[in-house]
Amino acid sequence: MMVKARAKINLSLDVLGTRADGYHEILTVMQPLELHDVLEAGPLEGDIRVESSHPEVPSGPGNIVYRAADLIRREFRCGAGARIFIHKKIPVAAGLAGGSADAAAALRALNRLWALNAAEEELFRLGEAIGSDVPFCLLGRTALAGGRGELLTPLPSFSGFGVVLVKPPFGVSTARIYRLYDSLPAVPGPDTRAVVKAVENGDLKALAGLMGNALERVTASLHPEIMEIKKALVAAGAAGAMMSGSGPAVFGLCAGPDEARFVASRLNLPGCQVIATRTV
Ligand code: ATP
Repeated sequence: MMVKARAKINLSLDVLGTRADGYHEILTVMQPLELHDVLEAGPLEGDIRVESSHPEVPSGPGNIVYRAADLIRREFRCGAGARIFIHKKIPVAAGLAGGSADAAAALRALNRLWALNAAEEELFRLGEAIGSDVPFCLLGRTALAGGRGELLTPLPSFSGFGVVLVKPPFGVSTARIYRLYDSLPAVPGPDTRAVVKAVENGDLKALAGLMGNALERVTASLHPEIMEIKKALVAAGAAGAMMSGSGPAVFGLCAGPDEARFVASRLNLPGCQVIATRTV
């Protein structure tokens, strides 16, 4: 069985504070993309085997997909096994939720493969235990996310817009970026309510002017290239550009997929991976 695991971008991301459990309280508008990994899942006698096509993505228990499989199997006291191969297309450690998307896709695939009949709420509960972005990946549509990212309010579809992703030749650790965030003086975050309005209205121009990511200046303080990439995307014709999540991937928004391909073709960013895709 083949399942898609879609990448996401954050159209806005605000950090509201720290919590007693060590996580940060965030408020973010999340958007799924056409860009996806493919998970190939099939039966295996008693055992869970996870492998991937990407050298930086661990096989076996180190993979978030293995943890998802192990968790749902234990929760349902299921004795069956599975082999899962991850065809990796989403850049790794980029702020595009590649691992979370794979985990969500694995929960859905194994629910079917093992005929567990898990209710949606059950899958969301398991997803939340695996990672903050997993519930959004299970939802699979534009949403406002609060809490650690798991409290979801679906928004109207914002599909069909062009997206140019630029992944610089390094990754960042989300935990490190949040630690650094805490050590910097606070500055006002994006106007999330206005971003939500622009998304609801399908107003790309308004959105481009309102987008903001509270983590961007943090990651950019370590990697000033982020700001250069943003400038390059806008100079190449994107309506707006911003870092996704804790980075370092930067996206440019365009009117449609054709415009995104055109913008991508005009970029000259040595060492960076450039992908033209679209919102879904
Ligand atoms: P987020 O946007 O949710 O913070 P991310 O895009 O920054 O996620 P991931 O691509 O999910 O980051 O990967 C983070 C780390 O997790 C990688 O360095 C990788 O070693 C490890 N990892 C474990 N399983 C996976 C997986 N299935 N796909 C990608 N990375 C994985």
